[in-house]
Amino acid sequence: MGDYNWQALYPDMVQWRRHLHQHPELSYQEHQTMAFVAERLRSFGVETQDGVGDTGVIGIIKGSLPGKTVALRADMDALPIQDEKDCEYASQVPGVMHACGHDGHTSGLLAVARYFSENREMLHGEVRLIFQPGEEVCPGGALKMIEAGALNGVDAIYGVHLWTPFAAGTLASAPGPVMASTDEFFINITGKGGHGGIPHVTVDSLLIGAQLVVQLQSIISRNVNPLNPAVLTVGTFQSGTAQNIIAENCRITGTVRTFDEETRTLIRKRIEEVSQQLCALNGAEVDIEYMMGYPTLVNHAGETERFFRVAKEMFGQEQVFQTPPMMPAEDFAYYVQKVPGCFIFVGAGNQELGAVYPHHHARFDIDESAMLSAARILAAMAEDFLNQPETE
Ligand code: MN
Repeated sequence: MGDYNWQALYPDMVQWRRHLHQHPELSYQEHQTMAFVAERLRSFGVETQDGVGDTGVIGIIKGSLPGKTVALRADMDALPIQDEKDCEYASQVPGVMHACGHDGHTSGLLAVARYFSENREMLHGEVRLIFQPGEEVCPGGALKMIEAGALNGVDAIYGVHLWTPFAAGTLASAPGPVMASTDEFFINITGKGGHGGIPHVTVDSLLIGAQLVVQLQSIISRNVNPLNPAVLTVGTFQSGTAQNIIAENCRITGTVRTFDEETRTLIRKRIEEVSQQLCALNGAEVDIEYMMGYPTLVNHAGETERFFRVAKEMFGQEQVFQTPPMMPAEDFAYYVQKVPGCFIFVGAGNQELGAVYPHHHARFDIDESAMLSAARILAAMAEDFLNQPETE
């Protein structure tokens, strides 16, 4: 299928992506997006199940030849950000925007669906297309899709992320841990409020909270092995109502990122210990809510090798590189806990097109040609896997 005219699909991909970009939907609310995807899949003659995991879609393409099953995954949700781009395909929904490229993932996978639907006679086994909801918000749409049976009978899975920090035309991945685990914590300190001029009869939750922020930073600098990357960010600090009142309450929230379970467990334990002991020492009460988010995304060595071989052959040696691990998290992690797979970064940055903003930025945009690279690498990975001799 090497002579397929992918370029012919490109105008449709751009149109689909721009439609989705104008009509973004938040996590777990992807109703119109689901209908859009399902309608297109059915128009290609693809066996389609919608409403999977609430707002997910599964497309099933069975080849004429016997073989294994490969799953390819796209995520469909947008973010609560006001689109500040000045272009005709900017978001039409106030406060909601495709600022992570998931519209491009969805369009890319639709093109893959079209490709395999037109090439069934030469296809071994089954290609299963997973369009999942809710990547941006825990517990993660991936879990819902897995619970709904999306991985039943699947032998390998591949997924991509369009990535503006990498130039369009390049592709990257890495074996082993490639994206971080992500947890969130919410600490509520309750002291005893009072008059700003009479501090000795109060318990100042703001002062305790300020010390706690500093103490939390020392977990990374003094408890974690410096050879194990980890981040602890305090993102919000809320306390006090007026300049002459001692604050009764202080709320601190933050996020923790690691690349191994041991470090992850250690940080959680230290956050709880430090918070409890510092508050007890100062006579305040504390309530700690710790939410475990996505685990570390661990690429399988063999499937990552497959990526480097297939991608270099297709895009050229110099366009494909190994990336260092990254701190953002991805619920694709859950799929590769279940079956072998590889998550691939497809460069989508382009200075000339203004695709220079980081993911989750109000002016985020992609070089749309990256969607074509994404579709081609996903299709090529699936074919490479399915065409391998059964004995392997
Ligand atoms: Mn994303």
